[in-house]
Amino acid sequence: MNPFALPTREAAAPSAPHPEAAPLLEGRNVTKFFGGLAALNSVDFAVYPNEIMGLIGPNGSGKTTLFDCLTRVQHVSAGEIYFKGVDITDYKPYQVAHLGLARTFQVIRVYKKLTVWENMLLSRQWGGLSMRKKFHTPPAETEDRARGLVSFLLLDRVMDEQAGNLSGGQQRLLEIGMALMPDPDLILLDEATSGVNPTLIEEIKDRIRTLNSQYGKAFLLVEHNIHFISDLCSRVFVLNYGQKLAEGSPDEIMENEDVIEAYFGADGGDDDDW
Ligand code: ADP
Ligand code: MG
Repeated sequence: MNPFALPTREAAAPSAPHPEAAPLLEGRNVTKFFGGLAALNSVDFAVYPNEIMGLIGPNGSGKTTLFDCLTRVQHVSAGEIYFKGVDITDYKPYQVAHLGLARTFQVIRVYKKLTVWENMLLSRQWGGLSMRKKFHTPPAETEDRARGLVSFLLLDRVMDEQAGNLSGGQQRLLEIGMALMPDPDLILLDEATSGVNPTLIEEIKDRIRTLNSQYGKAFLLVEHNIHFISDLCSRVFVLNYGQKLAEGSPDEIMENEDVIEAYFGADGGDDDDW
């Protein structure tokens, strides 16, 4: 059964990008200054269709800023961003969302006073719809989709709860559900497992895998949980001080001397420091 009340797409295995595939999302020379600080310095970057890619780096290395630039929440100081081959460098965030690029935030953003159900319905469309219209009765297919997603994300039992009363993990799942409502092709998740208990982390992992393999959704994951990254991602991109430090398979990245030094200093460290 299709949990989203939408036609099921052809199954696609999570795999390394096809060498000749055009990138789904591409950043060229992405540079972002905050005053004199280069939060991103000439970053070249690509996510391919059907890919689950990891984005890691020490705190302050520019991961969230890169998400902000890619989704046009922040203007870039220099460089270009392409999504599905379209130059979106000067797009507004809702125009990017319309094209099929969705994201969640490091600090959870749900409407805490609204119920889970209301949060889902409000997320159905971005821009071009007034808040008043958003509260009108939605079309039946929107409700079907919201119901399918709520169930897929294990939120049925809390559908009528105010979102602010949910656990951190459930709020993360709700955010993922809200990001999925407009049926995006690529979802950027910023620390989706932070503050989430280990059982729910496994559920989130499982949902991402299903969305990728059965529905063809591509993901870009900012994560500190290296096991989460190595279980899901075919490729990992590493930022350090706003610059690309390395790119490769999870195994290559975990053995990369520069990456180890950036995280732990020259003397190494233990696994849990990731
Ligand atoms: P990460 O997500 O990898 O932890 P961030 O992208 O949040 O890193 O931050 C990268 C750098 O940019 C940090 O030095 C941070 O202090 C700075 N920074 C991020 N956002 C802003 C902002 N809105 N104004 C000024 N500096 C910022
Ligand atoms: Mg961050």
